[in-house]
Amino acid sequence: MSPVSSVVESPVSDVLERFLRYVQYDTQSDEQSNTYPSTEKQLALLRDLAAELRALGIADANVDEHGYVMATIPATVSETVRHIPTIGFIAHVDTSPEMSGAGVAPIVHAAYDGRDLVLPDDPDAVLRRRDIPELADHIGHDIVTASGTTLLGADDKAGVAEIMTAAAYLVAHPEIPHGRVRIAFTPDEEIGRGTKYFDVAAFGAACAYTVDGGPRGEIESESFSADAMTVTFHGFNTHPGYARGRMVNAIKVAAAFIDSLPAGSLSPEATDGYEGFVHPYVMQPSVDRTSVKLIVRDFVTAALKEKEDLIASLAERATKRFAGSRVEIAIEEQYRNMREVLDRHPDIVARARDAIRRAGLEPRSKPIRGGTDGSRLSFMGLPTPNLFAGEHNFHSRLEWVAVQDMEKAVEVIVKLVEIWSELRT
Ligand SMILES: [Zn+2]
Repeated sequence: MSPVSSVVESPVSDVLERFLRYVQYDTQSDEQSNTYPSTEKQLALLRDLAAELRALGIADANVDEHGYVMATIPATVSETVRHIPTIGFIAHVDTSPEMSGAGVAPIVHAAYDGRDLVLPDDPDAVLRRRDIPELADHIGHDIVTASGTTLLGADDKAGVAEIMTAAAYLVAHPEIPHGRVRIAFTPDEEIGRGTKYFDVAAFGAACAYTVDGGPRGEIESESFSADAMTVTFHGFNTHPGYARGRMVNAIKVAAAFIDSLPAGSLSPEATDGYEGFVHPYVMQPSVDRTSVKLIVRDFVTAALKEKEDLIASLAERATKRFAGSRVEIAIEEQYRNMREVLDRHPDIVARARDAIRRAGLEPRSKPIRGGTDGSRLSFMGLPTPNLFAGEHNFHSRLEWVAVQDMEKAVEVIVKLVEIWSELRT
């Protein structure tokens, strides 16, 4: 018997059934919306998840007024319960606004044989071995895709199904010693609002793990630190027929500024790994006033300031070329590298790495070139690295997940709960 089958006799096999069920809910979030959650349809899944947790015997599972599902698996070791920290697991139910999540028709490609996978609803939607080297690691596995016209929603319904399946297993096996375990399912992660009303005090855990990562074995504990900048150039508009010596065209000042931004470095197109960047992504042009929105990213928070100073000096220099123009700069903090928090609590990542090893995998880490809900939660007082969920090609019609990776994720969650119960402080 493999370790997977020993964990299960076997709720792990339920992970696929749950996943196939969850992806059929359309839970796309909407950044244009002013409501919370941003779309009513997310609540349908959130409510059903709370009901499913209650049906498992997790009596306190509920949906709060913002749509967050929270639930408790009670400790099984009463005498020592005070000494075992409460840990949490978190996954988001919404899917990306970038791609339709309506009418998802999941397909299980059983015992993948290594050929290109052509998705039936669009002949151009093909998972090609030569484009997706990771497929080579999954020969013989069962691969789930959508049908070619929607995303799959493994981001993050794989995480939801994995946490739910681990919860079912723990409830069915009270002989496993563990402390109190908290579960949260959240809305609106994809539009950056997943933690907006997350009640860290009510969650009441010492640390948590988002289960929203990529390939098997990964534990992510470093994200970007992120600021947003708005650079606004002011000119002077007048009738163009009578503008000599009077008009100052803010569009031209902004163009000079954009042209002066570093191209061969410090930009998304030219960086990877631990390199940061500055990235103009929206412009609102007019002669009188042109604003440029940029994002600034680095793994070292202090290095954001250097990049912002560079942008400010390039903006000033552009105004020098256009007499009568001026510039105004606003900086907004977005999120910070979770590592700054996690480094102060090394156990949290070390225990995840142990759990991954106990599940028979080699732990791997790479820096997240973005932010997660854990980046924000870590600074809200809940240190939260990100565990693999098995997601690949997320936000795309070619999104896929291997059933065997989902099973491994369930196993890692269960092992992690066990490992935390071994801690005595
Ligand atoms: Zn996600």
